[in-house]
Amino acid sequence: MRKSTRVLVTGAGGFIGHHLIEYLKKQGYWVRGVDIKRSEFAPTSADEFELLDLRRWENCLRATEGVEEVYALAADMGGMGFISAHHSQILHNNALINIHTLDAARENGVKRYLYTSSACIYPEYLQTDANVTPLKEEDAYPAQPQDAYGWEKLITERLCVHYSEDYGIETRIVRFHNIFGPLGTWDGGREKAPAALCRKVAIAKLTGTTEIEIWGDGEQSRSFCYIDDCITGIYRLMQSDYRDPLNLGQDRLITINQLADIVAEIAGLRITRKHVAGPQGVRGRNSDNTRLRQVLNWEPEISLEEGLSRTYAWIEEQVRAQCATTSVSEVAIV
Ligand code: NAD
Repeated sequence: MRKSTRVLVTGAGGFIGHHLIEYLKKQGYWVRGVDIKRSEFAPTSADEFELLDLRRWENCLRATEGVEEVYALAADMGGMGFISAHHSQILHNNALINIHTLDAARENGVKRYLYTSSACIYPEYLQTDANVTPLKEEDAYPAQPQDAYGWEKLITERLCVHYSEDYGIETRIVRFHNIFGPLGTWDGGREKAPAALCRKVAIAKLTGTTEIEIWGDGEQSRSFCYIDDCITGIYRLMQSDYRDPLNLGQDRLITINQLADIVAEIAGLRITRKHVAGPQGVRGRNSDNTRLRQVLNWEPEISLEEGLSRTYAWIEEQVRAQCATTSVSEVAIV
């Protein structure tokens, strides 16, 4: 593809979309960003930013008009707290967004379409042990995702495969494993574990407390991938000729307790963990990166400690800024 190619990024006001647009602009692309909300934490670098509800077909037609490539990131989503409590809303909204965006892209003659799926598509029965076997792409079937969020992602993966076969649109499918970094949601209920733990530790530091709430026993395990690696991986996949779903994540498995300890060490705080009831998702999940390495000749390289240091610094800044306008106890309640 020529660098002057016109591309659309949906979900442009969100975490990954915002970073992706910055990257694409540096590569020389002309970028249209679309979202139902503006970028929350920093101005967008998009050439054009349109506020559109992509559940509606006519808005998707407008969004995909005149572009050659689409990076489809828009989704109604959040961390486990949100995903486990909004099944109907998530399935309804994301199905509409994805069916309409892909079909509008076909209608407008888009050449390449990258869909952002999730590790949440993997079957629950393979993720019952914290010491889980890393998940290979072919483990997706027989299907049994834990939540509606994962079921919808799986259906849209199938939609991409069939649109590619039936209509010739080049589709790419990436399955993210827990992406984190600065400029991501860190409070309000949609935040994910790394951001939530950074916020809790920052609040503890500012309030002079040491107790951090952890959902469940904290022995549930995951792998976490820093945003810059995620963006490099997305871009490499889009340039590749690989049409099947591909994992994109780190393959270093750690528990939520260990994650909390790393964040606390970065903050220079000794914490005591208070285990409370809360949604935990599957017991263990890790990415098998064999195919990622083969297909992209690359794999994520930024360490968890390095990524968390950058993320913690940004979230502590956000918490401090909020404390300047609100009392610390109110920030702590949010
Ligand atoms: P995000 O919530 O920050 O971004 C998603 C964006 O989609 C939001 O800005 C939201 O406003 C927008 N959106 C929601 N409904 C919309 C609508 N009706 N019309 C237009 N825009 C709408 O999430 P993110 O972390 O940047 O995730 C990007 C994509 O990657 C999503 O598809 C998500 O499911 C997928 N994903 C992310 C992760 C992760 O760890 N962050 C993991 C797996 C998959």
